[in-house]
Amino acid sequence: MKPKVYFSREEMFTLNRDRLLERGVTLRDIAEIAFKQQSRYNDNISMTMCMESVEKILSFRDIFHIVQLGTEIDRLTEQKAFRSPIQDIMQADLGMFGIDEIFGLDVASNYGTIGQTNFGDIDVNKPGIVKKLNDDGKKSQCHTFLDDIVGAIAAAASTRVAQIISEEEANKDMHYTSIRLDI
Ligand code: MG
Repeated sequence: MKPKVYFSREEMFTLNRDRLLERGVTLRDIAEIAFKQQSRYNDNISMTMCMESVEKILSFRDIFHIVQLGTEIDRLTEQKAFRSPIQDIMQADLGMFGIDEIFGLDVASNYGTIGQTNFGDIDVNKPGIVKKLNDDGKKSQCHTFLDDIVGAIAAAASTRVAQIISEEEANKDMHYTSIRLDI
């Protein structure tokens, strides 16, 4: 039988959700970071909006490939499956490595420059699950890629919520006939 390489959005969402859970991250953990970040700028956001955004982002093909690859690199690093020197560099979560941040920036860039700056904020301040992953990764586990991927999904979800609110605000005072756009 031919290996399956094409997945529907629903399948990609489910596979991502399960892989994150296996690595100790719930969708709620990610939504809480998005909520915390975006509620600094908007009073009228809800956890439901943040959860919906996390779910939507996890169904995108580019995000699917990054979540699946990043979590596998971490798992294989824990199993010492790579050769040195890259094994030691990833196990140490070396600050000057930077490839994990590339994964994060790529995820966040789906929501433009604001997505990327929101990722920078989470990367520096390490709220909630990002801090836990970072701390646990210094012990026997490896979260070199996961902490950036999770932080970036939270940043993307936070930015998507901001875009939805902007759209709702604009619709209150609409001068032009508009088409319904999906965010
Ligand atoms: Mg990292």
